[in-house]
Amino acid sequence: MKVWAVVPAAGTGERLGGGMPKAQRMLAGRPIIDWCVSALMQGVQGIVVAGPTEITECFATPVTRVDGGETRQQSVSNALGAIPTDTTHVLVHDAARPLVSAALIQLVIATLKEYDAVVPALRVNDTIKRVHEDVIQDTLPRNDLWRAQTPQGFRLSLLREAHARAADDAFEATDDAALVERLGLHPVVVPGEQTNIKITTAEDLDLAETIVRARA
Ligand code: C5P
Repeated sequence: MKVWAVVPAAGTGERLGGGMPKAQRMLAGRPIIDWCVSALMQGVQGIVVAGPTEITECFATPVTRVDGGETRQQSVSNALGAIPTDTTHVLVHDAARPLVSAALIQLVIATLKEYDAVVPALRVNDTIKRVHEDVIQDTLPRNDLWRAQTPQGFRLSLLREAHARAADDAFEATDDAALVERLGLHPVVVPGEQTNIKITTAEDLDLAETIVRARA
């Protein structure tokens, strides 16, 4: 088993503000992307980051960099193209989730020994409403609803095929598992982590700072 990771890190981070791309914003004294790279480095053989050239100044560990794309999916696709050919599996991890633990990375990799596609996820505890212009349209039964996280793990050839098919069909999704599901396959779920939050807004960054302080 030879595992690489790809990290889409080319988002502009407009909802976060701060005048710089989200992955380069600081979290507890280190750039957000550096948190991701150092966590992943403990479990994989190599990493490809999709982001602007300046991003390489954000981490000490040498990683491969490719340009990001117009969308997250395009950024992942660019990064998949830079993985060495003898790689068997890939983890796709959003730069926006810097607090991923080494244990979760190991769990996804271990599960890939048995399954071709692995998604960490948590059950939805809130009641979910579909809302249009501030008015509730309906309530979704939450029993079957889960919140997908990253790192998502895949057999590399499967994920490459899923991306190629999505590109052919001009299909866009917000995670990679959705592209594999389109092929008629059913990724397996492993328990995600409450602290593996996705940083989108300034409040998320504050919460991440609090989590880091609590861990110290
Ligand atoms: O926009 P969102 O928060 O869903 O982005 C998820 C991840 O995809 C982030 O890590 C972001 O940097 C990345 N992304 C990217 N290329 C884009 C848009 C988002 O690499 N064009």
